[in-house]
Amino acid sequence: MSHDGLPTMERLHSRLSHVSPICTRCSLLPESAFHCIFECPVSAAVWSKLGQKFTPSSLSAESPWKWMNEVITRVQSSPDSKRRLLTFGLTAWKIWLPRNLFIFEGKSLLPEEILAHAGSLSLEIDKIANPLCTSSSS
Ligand SMILES: [Zn+2]
Repeated sequence: MSHDGLPTMERLHSRLSHVSPICTRCSLLPESAFHCIFECPVSAAVWSKLGQKFTPSSLSAESPWKWMNEVITRVQSSPDSKRRLLTFGLTAWKIWLPRNLFIFEGKSLLPEEILAHAGSLSLEIDKIANPLCTSSSS
């Protein structure tokens, strides 16, 4: 995402001019990486539920790279900065996967489902990273 390397419709259109650059999920705007991960209505709803720490400002809007730097700057002073950055990355990834599910299989996920999947993955990572903290008492 940082270098707009995601195979979005806009990127595909730049190589294959007969392919429409318009987002297949919302049909509103060209699907750039920023649109796909943040701006598309389902994606925006997911970030909205996570709070303002992850919302791009007017300075970073439309630039995934600036947006990521902005989020890192906002959360790095938090005592739980690692958790917040993990949430950011997992959420972006869990938004990308349902986008593909929609394009290739016609299936849609609700923002709540996307967040639940990101949360489950976060817990799995916690168990791997901190096996003693999450194991049951014995
Ligand atoms: Zn869209």
